[in-house]
Amino acid sequence: MKALDPERFTDYIENTARTVVEMYELIKPGEMVVVGLSGGKDSILTLNLLSKFREDFNFELKAVSIDEGISGYRADGIKAARKFASDMDVELIEKSFKEEFDFTLDDIVNQYKSGCIPCGVFRRYLLNKTAFEMGADKLATGHNLDDEIQSFLMSFARADFRRFTKFGPKLDRIHPKLVPRIKPLWKIPERDVGIWAVMNGVDVHFAECPYSHSSLRAKMKNYLNNLESRRQGTKLSILQSFDKSFEFPKKRIKMGECTRCGEPSSLSICKACEMIEEINKSR
Ligand code: SF4
Repeated sequence: MKALDPERFTDYIENTARTVVEMYELIKPGEMVVVGLSGGKDSILTLNLLSKFREDFNFELKAVSIDEGISGYRADGIKAARKFASDMDVELIEKSFKEEFDFTLDDIVNQYKSGCIPCGVFRRYLLNKTAFEMGADKLATGHNLDDEIQSFLMSFARADFRRFTKFGPKLDRIHPKLVPRIKPLWKIPERDVGIWAVMNGVDVHFAECPYSHSSLRAKMKNYLNNLESRRQGTKLSILQSFDKSFEFPKKRIKMGECTRCGEPSSLSICKACEMIEEINKSR
């Protein structure tokens, strides 16, 4: 097998992300972009690429890290996030479930079939709230090609059509307090993100979350990896089919504000407040 040329590989990664940023107009001049920085390879690559693009596209860059409270796992990620933000001269704001909600993910995980359910709800809530408070115009996440098609197929399998509006490299602003998300790694497979990190000697947090095995996403990931190993290019084909078959609705779900916390929500009480109530009842 021919060895990969590190320089050419890094160019491919940069050019792929740059094309997505340009083609889908992810960032406008003068905007402030906040990266959700977990310290894992995807978010570190996102920060790395955006810090290289910031002069060309003329935008300000900051980052936010969320500590969900997963013992033996998250602390190393936060350490990596601090190091990379400082290396790239990017201001990093840190938030935690404990500080915001008065519980850690470890405290509440047994109440759910999968830890990813509360983790996703509370992390999205806190990321958006913090990015909004920081004055962000865009919230950049490390979602790669694999993440996107896993999410898409999971929604497909659940007939959760409302979620289809959340796919694509850029989400529109549908509420003044909901910071639009952008996904610069949208066309980059997870495997290539890993190769980039190893090839460049980037000291990212590679450990697996102890709660990841129980999720539907983990099963979907195995299934897709299996398919890809039998027929190379399957994942990209799924993304392309999806991209061509669905017109992302311009009018997304109608958003209002949660009557309890005031955060953007399509329901009168947002999912985070609903879950906090359940958690508090069972304490
Ligand atoms: Fe949270 Fe699940 Fe990711 Fe772990 S794998 S950090 S529980 S979303």
